[in-house]
Amino acid sequence: MNSEPQKSPAHGSASVDRYDAIIIGAGMAGMYQLFRLRELGLSVRVFETGGGVGGTWFWNRYPGARFDSESYSYGYSFDEKLLQEWNWTEHFSPQPETLRYLELVADRLELCKDIEFNSRITTAVFDENESVWEVTTESGRRALARLLISAVGILSAPTWPRIDGINSFKGEAYHTARWPHDPVDFTGKRVGVIGTGATGVQVIQEIAKTAGHLTVFQRTPDYCTPLGNRPIDDETQRRIKASYPEIFAKCRGSFGGFLHESDARSTLEVSEEEREAFWEKLYRDPGFAMWLGNFSDILFNKEANDLVSEFVRKKIRERVRDPETAKKLCPQNHGFGTRRVPQETAYYEVYNQDHVDLVDLRETPIERITATGIQTSRAEHEFDIIVYATGFDAVTGAFDRIDIRGRGGLKLKDKWADGPRTYLGLQGVGFPNFLTLVGPHNAAVFCNIPRCIEQNVEWVTDLARYMHENGYTRIEPTLAAEDAWTQHVYEMVNMTLLPTADSWFMGANGNVPNKKRTFLAYLGGAPAYRARCDEIAAKGYEGFVLE
Ligand code: NAP
Repeated sequence: MNSEPQKSPAHGSASVDRYDAIIIGAGMAGMYQLFRLRELGLSVRVFETGGGVGGTWFWNRYPGARFDSESYSYGYSFDEKLLQEWNWTEHFSPQPETLRYLELVADRLELCKDIEFNSRITTAVFDENESVWEVTTESGRRALARLLISAVGILSAPTWPRIDGINSFKGEAYHTARWPHDPVDFTGKRVGVIGTGATGVQVIQEIAKTAGHLTVFQRTPDYCTPLGNRPIDDETQRRIKASYPEIFAKCRGSFGGFLHESDARSTLEVSEEEREAFWEKLYRDPGFAMWLGNFSDILFNKEANDLVSEFVRKKIRERVRDPETAKKLCPQNHGFGTRRVPQETAYYEVYNQDHVDLVDLRETPIERITATGIQTSRAEHEFDIIVYATGFDAVTGAFDRIDIRGRGGLKLKDKWADGPRTYLGLQGVGFPNFLTLVGPHNAAVFCNIPRCIEQNVEWVTDLARYMHENGYTRIEPTLAAEDAWTQHVYEMVNMTLLPTADSWFMGANGNVPNKKRTFLAYLGGAPAYRARCDEIAAKGYEGFVLE
């Protein structure tokens, strides 16, 4: 292996840099993959659209952005020294601190020398004769590599709503996932926010503190539960640092890589008093306790789910003073936990304030955006600022924004037109040597993501080592393996209630024309996924053809 790039004259007249591996994206996955492959002695180039490292935490700078995972369960686990040196200041870290952490990691590991920032890859084409990928960036820069590894993120392709007149608004307009680097001042302003998912909830709580008037446009209410954030005091800091092995072991053993693990009991086997007491406790507990620490059947059994849904609706009604507003905030068309549960800090109390209004878009849809505001079927609302918290073209969107062509010119977008097809969420037939970290149908999509990123990256690193040691230059899954995995993904999710709700897990936010409604994650759980990946590797990469 050669850690320096080579000049290749073979492709076109101009010479093109040739690397052992190209990684798309310098978020948490791309950063760690770069580090691991470089350790192997490979020459690696990372192309990153943004102007810095951090991915999600680089782009999502909106006020109120913070972890929903416990901070100390989120950082990289591989660098013991960094774990001891770094101090998370809050149990659920705010975005600026997380970005500082990732920038520090990049500095310590000297990652930036191998990353080209402000370099969006527009095409990636597989050369069958040479078994190499050629990528081209927006500025026309070309590069070749044997391995192409995507680390593009699952929620990195923001979507704007398809509403007439969206470009005609003369005030300030921001998407939460493309937030400016300079702070936006809401003081005394008339602000409209569209979207009430996990992002909307965070940004609404924050904007309400200073806005002159805030109007929230809600299409689907979610079951939000208390985050329970608080500063980390010195004693807790010491305890956390002493218990990192236990923290990571717990995450490793849990279904979603979080510190929360479901209770083995069924909702229906305990008495009503016991159930209520348990739910009261979970509702008070921080983080995803209510979602992921609940009875084992809440996402499988409709009767159990109805009961817990009603418990959370009751909480909403208790917290919102105006019964009409409370009613609008109570989800009716899906069950608790079937969509990602937003975590809140006094979110519901925002609606008890005189300067905050809630518009239910099911009753009064938006007709158009005007030069001065938002026109619904009932009224025109005038604004100084409109904030779009309208989500993402989830999981496949960032792939679709690149023209990726595999064997025989097959376009990835076409291959996935009826939903993703992959083996382990890591590779698809027709795309040799193209590995997708946190790709569709990968357990990392439904996970405390750094925990699963580490697993994905380490597995791909082992594969790269194996290929080198055995002289392989090409890997691709068999059709049988891809078929079996894809079927397995759907079998697992169909045992749950998740397909009953429209959510980004189902690729269903309505803003992406022709996006098929299909499950994009994997619900077999992180431990089972890891075991399967390890077993496949131990059997000489069973289900893959290595040449
Ligand atoms: P989202 O969950 O997809 O929510 C988008 C919101 O915008 C929804 O309320 C949606 O309504 C609404 N919307 C979309 N298009 C609309 C339209 N045309 N008209 C009116 N309303 C529209 O996106 P998100 O809130 O950005 O969150 C996505 C995911 O990012 C989360 O689920 C979570 O996994 C992650 N996230 C994590 C954190 C964290 O860990 N701290 C924070 C924020 C986000 P419908 O529901 O009706 O589609």
